[in-house]
Amino acid sequence: ENKELSIQNVTKIFSQRILLTKEEFKAVDDVTLEISLDPPEIFGLVGESGSGKSTLANILLQIIYPEFGKIYLNSKNIANFEITEFMKYIQPIFQDPFDSFDPMKKTDLFIYETIKNFNIAKERPAIESLINESLKNVGLDYKTVKGKYPHEFSGGQLQRIAVARALVVHPLLLVADEPVSMLDASLRISIVNLFKELKEKHNLSVLYITHDLSTAYYISDRMGVMLRGNLVEIGNAKEILDKPLHPYTQFLKEAVLEPDPDKKKITLEESEEQRMTVISE
Ligand code: ADP
Repeated sequence: ENKELSIQNVTKIFSQRILLTKEEFKAVDDVTLEISLDPPEIFGLVGESGSGKSTLANILLQIIYPEFGKIYLNSKNIANFEITEFMKYIQPIFQDPFDSFDPMKKTDLFIYETIKNFNIAKERPAIESLINESLKNVGLDYKTVKGKYPHEFSGGQLQRIAVARALVVHPLLLVADEPVSMLDASLRISIVNLFKELKEKHNLSVLYITHDLSTAYYISDRMGVMLRGNLVEIGNAKEILDKPLHPYTQFLKEAVLEPDPDKKKITLEESEEQRMTVISE
C-alpha cells in the first residue's frame, strides 16, 4: 500500500463574467502530484497570486470539488471517506489564524471540543492531558492558553494554537495555505520552523503553500511551481533552484533570489513585460 497522497489529473473550472460574456477558465489545470506521508515530507507549492494554489488546497480539503481528476489517500479515493474520518488524516492551517477559531469561544475549549468530536478521548483528565501535550508540541504552555479568547493572543501565538488544535487528531498531513503571511515578519520564521520541527519530531507531512519562492525553498524537501493553474515544475527543492527547467521558475529565481543590481534599475513596466514574455511562452 502506498503511504501517500496522490493527486491525479485534477482540473477545476470556474466561470468568469467579463462584461456580458461568460468565460470558463481552468483555475487548476490537469495537476498531478504525490506527497509522501511515510516517510513524511514537506512539499512546497509556490506560485504567484491567482496561480491556483488555494484552489488546489481547497480541493484537497474537499471544500470544493474538481470537474476532473481523482485524489487518493493511501490508495483510497478521498471522495469515499466519511468526512470526520477524512479530517483525521488531513487538517488545514489557514492564512489568518483568526479564521480557525470562533471569536466567542475560549481557545482551549475549542481544542477540547475537537478532541471530543473526533472521539480521540472521552474523559476530562485524558482530554486535558492531550491539550497539554499538543500545546507543548507547538512551544506553548497550557497555563498561558487556558481560559483565554482568540483575540487575547498575538497572531503568531494563535497560529501555534491552530496547529496544536490540528495535532490533537494526529493527522498525517497538514495543508498550510500561506500560514505566515498575516503574521509580523519577526514571527514568521519561528512558525516556518515549527512545521519543519513537526515533520522531524512527529512524522507529519506538510503541504506548504506560499507565493514566496525563498520560503518554499527554505522549508521544502520537494516543491512544485504553479503558473496559471499548471504545475510547471516539480522536484527536489535544491535541484530546482540550482537548475530550473522551466523559464518561469528561472524568472522567479532571478526576481526573488538573485537580484542583480543592474536588473534592479529596470522599471516596473519593463519587469512586467519580462514577466509576460516568460509566462506566455
Ligand atoms: P492562488 O491561491 O494561487 O492565489 P487561487 O486558487 O485563489 O490562486 O485562484 C486561482 C484563480 O481562480 C484566480 O483567477 C481566482 O480569481 C479564481 N477563483 C478562485 N476561486 C474562485 C471561485 N470560487 N469562483 C470563481 N473564480 C475563482
